[in-house]
Amino acid sequence: MTPAVLRLKRGRDRARVHPWIFKGDVADVSDQGEPGGVVTVVDAGGRLVGRGLFNPRPALCCRLLTWTDEAIDADFWRRRLAAAVAARANRDGAARLVWSEADALAGVVIDRYGPVAVLQTVTLGMARRRAELAAALRAVLGDVAVFCADDPTAATLEGFEPAAGWLDAPGRGHKTGLYLDQADNRVRIGPLGAGRAVLDVFAYTAGFACHALLAGATSAICIESSKDALAGAVDNLALNGVAARAEVRDANAFDELRRLDRAGERFGLIVLDPPPFARGRGALEGALRGYKEINLRAIRLLEPGGVLATFSCSHHVSDDAFERMVRDAAADAGARLRVLAPLTQSADHPVLLTVPETRYLKGLLLERI
Ligand code: SAH
Repeated sequence: MTPAVLRLKRGRDRARVHPWIFKGDVADVSDQGEPGGVVTVVDAGGRLVGRGLFNPRPALCCRLLTWTDEAIDADFWRRRLAAAVAARANRDGAARLVWSEADALAGVVIDRYGPVAVLQTVTLGMARRRAELAAALRAVLGDVAVFCADDPTAATLEGFEPAAGWLDAPGRGHKTGLYLDQADNRVRIGPLGAGRAVLDVFAYTAGFACHALLAGATSAICIESSKDALAGAVDNLALNGVAARAEVRDANAFDELRRLDRAGERFGLIVLDPPPFARGRGALEGALRGYKEINLRAIRLLEPGGVLATFSCSHHVSDDAFERMVRDAAADAGARLRVLAPLTQSADHPVLLTVPETRYLKGLLLERI
C-alpha cells in the first residue's frame, strides 16, 4: 500500500533535521492520511523529506522515522531496534535501549531489565504498533517479556488507551520502572558519600542512597512521598544489605528539609532529584521558585566540605536558568560552593544536537567550601 502524502508549506523544512511536524507546517495531507498511519512527507516542491507516523488530533501531527525512501515495515523496526541495542552494547545491567527521537524511533521508549523489556508508547501510531515493536524486539534480543508503561497524559493528547502491565495484563510503577537516566550519576556520586551522612531527597527507590551506603556512607536518610516508591526503597535497601544504616521517611521534601534544618542536622552528601516542577513553558516561574526553595534548604544542611548533587529534569528549565537558580539559592544561604562538575542524563539516553528535547536532565555537583 502506498502511504498517504503530507506536503509541507513552503519554507517549513525544519523537518529535515528535526522529526517533529506541527499542523501549522502542513500544506495538505492526501485522502488516505489516517490516524496512526504512515505518511510520506514532501516539501512544497514535492521532494521527499522523509516518512513518519501521522495523527491529525494533536498539534504535533507527525513524527518522522526516516529521511530516506524506505518502507516502515517489520524489517524496518528490526533494523532500528538492532541499531539502538548495538549502541548500548557496552552497558551491563538495566539500561535504556530506545530513547525515542534520539534513536530515530520518535514515540517509543524502551528500557531493559534483564529478561523484561518495558515499552512506553507516546504516539497513537506507536501504540497501534505495540505488537509489531514487541515482535521486532524479540527478534533482536531473543525471548524477552514485554511490560507496557504508557504515559496517560500523552495517551489522552494522542487519543489512545494507555497500556499498563504485561503486553496483556495490569501492573504499576513510575515512568518505565527505574529512573535509568540517573544510573551513571549514581555510580559517580555514590562513592562521594563514603564516611559521610547522606541525605537522599526525592529518593524514589533510594538508588542514590544504596550506592552511597555500598560505598561506605555512615548513614542515609531517604525522603519520599509516594507509597509505592517508599515500599520500593525499603525493599531496595534490604536487597542491597544496607537497610541497617538507612532510614526511609514518608514525608513531603519541602517540609522535611525545613524540619531537618531547624533540628540543626548536617550532611556530607545531599542528592536533590525532584520531579519536573515545570511541565510546560508557562509553569516556569513557579517551578524555579520551587527549585530554589529546596536548593536553599539543602545548601543550608551541607556541612563544610559537604557535596550537593542537584538536578532538574524539566526540559523547559535551561542550563542557564538552572545555574542562576542554584547561585541565588547559595547567595541566600550565604554559602560558597565550588562546581565540581556539570551533570546530565546517562549515556544510554543519547542527545541529538538538532533535537534539543532529547536532553532534559541537568545537574550540578557542588562542594561547600
Ligand atoms: N532520585 C530517584 C528518582 C527521583 S524521581 C532515583 O534515583 O531513582 C522524583 C521522586 O520524587 C518520585 O519518586 C516522587 O514520588 C517523589 N516526590 C515528588 N514530590 C515529592 C515531594 N513533595 N516530597 C517527596 N517526594 C516527592
